[in-house]
Amino acid sequence: MNEISDNVIIYGDNILKKPSEDITDFNGELQKIFERMVMMLYENNGVGLAAPQVGLSKRFAIIDLSFGEEVDNILPIVNPEILESSGEATEEEGCLSIPGIWEDVTRPDHIYFRYHDLEGELHEREAEGFLARVIQHETDHLNGILFVDRLSSVKRQLLTKQLRTLSEKGALT
Ligand code: ZN
Repeated sequence: MNEISDNVIIYGDNILKKPSEDITDFNGELQKIFERMVMMLYENNGVGLAAPQVGLSKRFAIIDLSFGEEVDNILPIVNPEILESSGEATEEEGCLSIPGIWEDVTRPDHIYFRYHDLEGELHEREAEGFLARVIQHETDHLNGILFVDRLSSVKRQLLTKQLRTLSEKGALT
């Protein structure tokens, strides 16, 4: 696998638009990536971080609904797949790769999903509410989709200038 970047990759970098590759090796390297991503998630007070956001085009993400308050609470999801979804909810979302922008996003409220853990074991489970939202947000990242892509065209139009500024800044770092 490639090198992990030192900082979270910001809007405008092509890696955020690219579908990631499945992980097939559940080895020490994945564990190292996991540990490094946990540090970055905490440094940035985030609730989730996907591998493309740290420069790796791999289907891996971590989620911590406690924002770093409970270390045991981290959920690593490898090759996640949403199998079914239902309901609908609208909540404000942000993203470590799109700093300063928070917008209401409508998504299914209830999901049934599949993922591997760090040891490669397959799990299938349900999630609802905030957890369902974060899993969908992170799985989107692995498909090259950002939450701003899920906004109405009118809303996105209003963000054009802010997004352009972000991507220009991102290109400089
Ligand atoms: Zn994000």
